[in-house]
Amino acid sequence: MSATEPLGLESPAARRGPLAMEAVELTKLYRLGRRSVLKAASSVSFGLYRGAVVALVGESGSGKSTVAKLLAGQERPTSGKILLDGKPVEVSRRHAFRRFKSTVQYVFQDPFASLNPVHTVRYHLSRPVRLHRGRLGRAEMDSVLTGLMEQVRLTPAQQFLAKYPHELSGGQRQRVAVARALAAEPSVLLADEPVSMLDVSIRLEMLNVLDALRARFSLALLYITHDIASARYFADEVLVMYAGEIVERGPAEELTQQPAHPYTQLLVSSAPDPDDLGSVLRHGGGSALRQAGEGGAGVGGCHFHPRCPFAVERCRTQAPPLVRIDRTRAAACWRLEVTAPTLLAGARARGEGGNADVVEM
Ligand code: ADP
Ligand code: MG
Repeated sequence: MSATEPLGLESPAARRGPLAMEAVELTKLYRLGRRSVLKAASSVSFGLYRGAVVALVGESGSGKSTVAKLLAGQERPTSGKILLDGKPVEVSRRHAFRRFKSTVQYVFQDPFASLNPVHTVRYHLSRPVRLHRGRLGRAEMDSVLTGLMEQVRLTPAQQFLAKYPHELSGGQRQRVAVARALAAEPSVLLADEPVSMLDVSIRLEMLNVLDALRARFSLALLYITHDIASARYFADEVLVMYAGEIVERGPAEELTQQPAHPYTQLLVSSAPDPDDLGSVLRHGGGSALRQAGEGGAGVGGCHFHPRCPFAVERCRTQAPPLVRIDRTRAAACWRLEVTAPTLLAGARARGEGGNADVVEM
């Protein structure tokens, strides 16, 4: 079963290669106090395919890192499951879990926090190489490390291998973090805001490095960002997250050209010039996306209604389900019942009620 099947969605953009990993109805609750619980991720489903980039887009606090941590095995889902090569990941089985840990690698947002200041780049990279391949002779290890450095374009390799983190720029550190992830020869790379802490002038280049690695190793890449412009530039498929839920999903180009959900429309309209994404990446942008949302997961009805210019009474009381709006796209907004009447009318005519093509969130 594919993650997208409940909606009957096709996802030609993301299906460049075989399905590597699937999130199936992943939900994560965090207990905040004795009486309050935060739904950081709510029934999140999607597939990651070899050689393709899926972007998870949303402002700070929308639950993006929670999803990445669940996929990386750093947090346990409250409900739902994760499939790797079609098989459920079982955290309790040590051997299987170790294999899972090397197959799925996570690159963090903060390149300054991810490296240990007392160790050289060589140390940071040789440990995962040893863990993954066992003991290697000096010459062999050297050639593996040199190869890793070349893949992230940190050359001359020998010079960079001898350096300590404080001798590197943010961009260089992030490349070391990516090289370290590659040391385990992963099939899935989870890149959590990999460029958002880097100087705008080097973001595009970093994304190009990731894209070259995706192509070369046929990586299934989850690219997490608050910047929809970079998602359009970089991803095949885009998932828009708001208050723990996927509110819209679809092929990157179509979704950003004709956003269906009011929140996606807000993201797109606050990106400075959606048609000149190279310039957006070079000069920064999407600042409106950075502020944490008011309302959010604690709000009844549609989580987005306090910020939505189109909200009507129903939006305050009933949460809209994610519905298919065409062959490849879905969104969760009551307005789409009006703008996509044929789909819903067709469903009713087939005697399936209004809930055909619907996944209750
Ligand atoms: P994003 O990566 O999109 O900024 P996160 O996934 O980090 O969002 O966080 C989603 C929500 O979950 C936020 O409200 C955050 O405060 C909350 N959260 C994340 N981790 C924890 C935790 N360990 N305990 C309690 N709340 C958490
Ligand atoms: Mg985050």
